[in-house]
Amino acid sequence: MNIFVVNAGSSSLKYQMIDMELEIVLASGIVERIGIEGTTLKHHANGEDKVIENASIADHNEAVEAVVETLLSSEYGVIESIEQIGAIGFRIAHGGERFSDASLIDDLTLQAIRENGELAPLHNPVSVVVIEACKRIMTDTPMVAVFDTAFHQTLPSKAFLYGLSYDAYTDLKIRRYGFHGTSHKYMVMQAAKMLGRDIGELKLITCHLGNGSSVSAVKNGVSIDTSMGFTPLEGFVMGTRCGDIDPAIVQYLMKKKDMDIEGVIDYLNTGCGVLGLSGKSSDFRDLWKHVELGDERSMIAIEVFCYRVKKYIGSYVAAMNGVDAIVFAGGIGENDFGVRGLITEELEFLGVDIDREQNNSRGVQKIISTPDSKVAVMVVLTDEELMIARDTLDICSRVGEVHRDAV
Ligand code: ADP
Repeated sequence: MNIFVVNAGSSSLKYQMIDMELEIVLASGIVERIGIEGTTLKHHANGEDKVIENASIADHNEAVEAVVETLLSSEYGVIESIEQIGAIGFRIAHGGERFSDASLIDDLTLQAIRENGELAPLHNPVSVVVIEACKRIMTDTPMVAVFDTAFHQTLPSKAFLYGLSYDAYTDLKIRRYGFHGTSHKYMVMQAAKMLGRDIGELKLITCHLGNGSSVSAVKNGVSIDTSMGFTPLEGFVMGTRCGDIDPAIVQYLMKKKDMDIEGVIDYLNTGCGVLGLSGKSSDFRDLWKHVELGDERSMIAIEVFCYRVKKYIGSYVAAMNGVDAIVFAGGIGENDFGVRGLITEELEFLGVDIDREQNNSRGVQKIISTPDSKVAVMVVLTDEELMIARDTLDICSRVGEVHRDAV
C-alpha cells in the first residue's frame, strides 16, 4: 500500500510517496518559496529529477494541486489514479496536550490542530490549509496527523513544568512540550534493533543534531525529558537559535539595541547560535572549513555547541540513573565525526569508550563505541518520513481505515 507523507513548512511543502510493503520511497520532492517570487517544485521519481523553476504556485493550496498533478503525470508520476494512495500522513508541528499519539483526521482533530495554531503560528495554520486541500482532491482517502510533540507527552510534570506560577500552565498552557518527536521515536526503535535489545529495558539518550537540535532522555521506550520546551528555541545552542538563556537578557537587548519584542525574538531565532557566535555560518561544514583556515571564533562556536550537548547528556544520565546508549542522528549527528568526538570525549567516568576509527565516517548507521564500552554510542540515519508513514499505517490499521482500492 502507498502512503503519501506531507510535511508543510511556512513557505515549503515536502512530500514522499512510500510503498509500505517494502518501505521503498517511490517519489519525493519539495515545493519551496511558496508565496514568494521564484517558487520551485523539485520532484524525484524513477531515478530522475524534475525541476520546475518559477512555478505558478501562489499558495499551499496550489502547491498540493501541483504535487498531486506531478505524482499522476505520465512522465514523472508514480501512480495512475489517486485511489492508489492508501492513506496520507501529515507532519503536524504542535499537538499540545491533546495528542500523545498520531490521530486519524476527523473534524475534531482538525479543529484541535487549528486551536493549537496559537502555540505554533508558523506551522499549524499552514498544515490546516494543506489538509483541507488534500481533502478536496482526495475526499475518501484516510488522513492521519503525526505530531512532533506527541512522543514527549509522556514527560512527567516535574520535567514539563517551568518554575512559573502554576496558573501560567493551567490558564495559558505554558509548559515544556518538546519537538522532533518523530525523529526521537525512530532513533529509539532503530537503536533497540541495532543493539538486539528490547526497547522496554533500555535507557537511551537520543541526540537529534541538525539546524534545529534536541536531546531526549528515553527510559524503557518512554520520553521522560527533552531539551526543547514551549517552543523549539529552548535547549542547547543551535544553527541560528540561542537555546537556553537568562530571560532577563530579552529586556536588556530591547533597551540596549533599541529593538521591539518581535525584533528580539527574531534575533534569538535567526541571528544567534553557532552563526551568531562564529559570525561566519550556521552550517557545520562551513565552520570546520573556517577552523582549518585558523578562525578561532568558528572553533569556539563548535566548542560551545558540543559542551552544551555534553551537559544535557550528563543531566539525562542523572535523570535516568544511568544510560545504555547514546544515539546520534540529524545532519550533524549522522555526518560530523568531529562533533561526535568532541561531545563524547572525557566521558570515561561514564564508561564511554569511542572507537576512533569507527567514528571516522559520515552517513553510516553503526555502533561507534568499542565492544568494551559500558555505554554504546551509535549513529542512526533518522527517517522522519518513514516514521510518519509507519504511524499512519498503524493508526489506519487500528481503526480499520485504509483506502479500499489501495490495499
Ligand atoms: P534540518 O534541521 O534543517 O533538517 P539537517 O538535519 O539537514 O538540518 O542538518 C543540517 C546540518 O548538518 C548543517 O549544519 C550541516 O553542516 C550538517 N551536515 C550535513 N551534512 C554534513 C556532512 N556531510 N558533514 C558534516 N556536517 C554535515
